[in-house]
Amino acid sequence: MTVGPVSRDAATAEFLDGTAAGHFLLRHCTACDALSTPQAAQCERCCSTALDWRPAAGDAILVSWTVAHGRPDASGAVQHTVLGIAELAEGPWWWSQIVDPDPALLRVGLPLRISFRRSGNQQEAVPVFIPAKNA
Ligand SMILES: [Zn+2]
Repeated sequence: MTVGPVSRDAATAEFLDGTAAGHFLLRHCTACDALSTPQAAQCERCCSTALDWRPAAGDAILVSWTVAHGRPDASGAVQHTVLGIAELAEGPWWWSQIVDPDPALLRVGLPLRISFRRSGNQQEAVPVFIPAKNA
C-alpha cells in the first residue's frame, strides 16, 4: 500500500507546486505571523484570511500511528503500511504515511523528516515522513 493517488485542483495547485519542488508549504498569516496547515482557509490563530505560503523546515515528530497489514504475497510475505500523525517543527500536524519504519522502533516523539513520493504513474509528489535516523 502506498500513498495516493492525488489529483491536482484549484485548492491544491500551489501546495503541489511546492511538493514538486521539494517543499512542504504551510499557510503563513500576514496579520499575526502564525503558521497553519496547508489546507487552512484562514489563520488557525487569529482567523485572518490574509495568508501566503512559507516552506516548512521538514522536521517533525511522531504523534500517533497505526499499522495497516496487507495480504500475503506469493511468497507469503506480508507488506504493511504505517499511517501516522506528524507534528511539524512549526506546530501544525499532518496525517501521512511513515515510510520504511521498523514498527518495533516507533514511539511517540520519534524524530521524523519529510520526504516526497510518487506512486505508479502519479505525477504529483506526495509528502510522507521517514524516521530522521534514515534521512
Ligand atoms: Zn493570524
